Amino acid sequence: MKKINLDELEDVRFKIDKEAFKPKTLTCSRCNLKMKKAEIEVNLEGDVSVKASGFECPKCKKKYLGLEESRKLDKALIVSRILKNDFKMERSLSFDGDNFTFRVPKEFTHDVHKRKIEIIPLGAKQFCATIE
Ligand SMILES: [Zn+2]
Repeated sequence: MKKINLDELEDVRFKIDKEAFKPKTLTCSRCNLKMKKAEIEVNLEGDVSVKASGFECPKCKKKYLGLEESRKLDKALIVSRILKNDFKMERSLSFDGDNFTFRVPKEFTHDVHKRKIEIIPLGAKQFCATIE
């Protein structure tokens, strides 16, 4: 099993107030009990699982992840797809002195209207690009 360390993925900046992502206490909506902090192991696709910190209800065992953890999981899911390498293509990079550029095949961009791209760094050599 490949394990992803969520803490190594924390290079995305969040714009929303940090407290919204990291609730200190939570109440179970079903039992009306205070939930306990718990480490939750979440299986992503295939053979990848991640540990996230969340909350667990002592009675019904319902698990809950804060929004920040959920977003980290989203990112981990992307990384897991990259690790699986089930779909990839090679492009050559060119460098203009400031930026690297590469061409995106038009087959990937059939729904693109704006010429804008959002880049989320995943590590020193990996990033996630979303065309708006
Ligand atoms: Zn409960």
